Amino acid sequence: MALRFATPLTPCAGRFAVQQDRKEFFHTMTTKTFQSRNGETLLKPVLTEEEYRSFQNEYAGFCLACGETAYNVEQDARRYVCESCNRPKVYGFEELLLMNLIVLQ
Ligand SMILES: [Zn+2]
Repeated sequence: MALRFATPLTPCAGRFAVQQDRKEFFHTMTTKTFQSRNGETLLKPVLTEEEYRSFQNEYAGFCLACGETAYNVEQDARRYVCESCNRPKVYGFEELLLMNLIVLQ
């Protein structure tokens, strides 16, 4: 959570933040941009099935706006406010999967 970026919407910044902050646990997760229904460019996580299960077990969430991971988020959480970018774009991982916003590799 220590890192802040001037332009949090670039995919590289999101990926960098995730890798820097959670290196020990989320080492291979990357992000991919997509267009939301209202035309916003958002990020979705690209990860392995094993990582997905870890995130789920750890009550982690993911911010679609800046790509940060969040903690103490219910698995089916929706629209929680992100601690990094203050936008209500944090979703639990189970919810992301249901919304088809997880890329399993
Ligand atoms: Zn965010």
